Amino acid sequence: MTIKKLIAGNWKMNGGLAANEALLRALLTGVGQPSADVAVCAPAPYLAQVQGLLAGSPIDWGAQDMSAHEQGAYTGEVSAAMLKDFGCRYAIVGHSERRQYHGETDALVAAKAQRALAAGITPIVCVGETLVEREAEQTEAVVKRQLAAVIHAVAHCTSEIVVAYEPVWAIGTGKTATPEQAQQVHAVLRAQLAAATSHPERVRILYGGSMNAANAASLLAQPDIDGGLIGGASLKAPDFLQIVAAAH
Ligand code: PEP
Repeated sequence: MTIKKLIAGNWKMNGGLAANEALLRALLTGVGQPSADVAVCAPAPYLAQVQGLLAGSPIDWGAQDMSAHEQGAYTGEVSAAMLKDFGCRYAIVGHSERRQYHGETDALVAAKAQRALAAGITPIVCVGETLVEREAEQTEAVVKRQLAAVIHAVAHCTSEIVVAYEPVWAIGTGKTATPEQAQQVHAVLRAQLAAATSHPERVRILYGGSMNAANAASLLAQPDIDGGLIGGASLKAPDFLQIVAAAH
């Protein structure tokens, strides 16, 4: 049995009350009964709005980051329990923009994944190499190191995570990994998961990095690509819906 694909939108730091409502209403109108699981990851202040509009619909929602701490004196942080209060099913952890601009380490990302699972939230764990690392033929080593930290932390819960392979050089750049390049890395990640869990086939490995309406079908046709994490194209309802339609 093949796993149900997941198409997750990452709105990043975009949107506002009016724009979110228009986008979500367009998604709800067009989504029908998708073959894939569908989710949007909204900025934290809008999660209540997203919950209000999407509750009971075929579209789930999630956060773009969360704290590694349970609660307490961590000014500005948002805990997993808070996300759970607003119905989040997913939380992205370790997005390259968090690693790059906020100094997030493999250990911190792993702690966040562990904290998410403990709260009943599915972490979407992002891994991916920079252009310099790819050119130095370090891709495999980098993604394996990033995933290994999470596997080590979540141990027997490994089959409950979602992994997103997001080559940093493809994010927001319009440069997409070819289906073959992506599949090659996904196969490496699948093999790593197989060594860590008896159910590697249950772990969805998403591709992210300039996935759009035109290239989604060929990426999603690869045997180890189980969905997409979509940035820019998730802000345009027709594009996001076309990607959803390509996932079956
Ligand atoms: C992302 O930020 O997760 C992403 C994949 O962005 P984009 O689709 O815009 O490249």
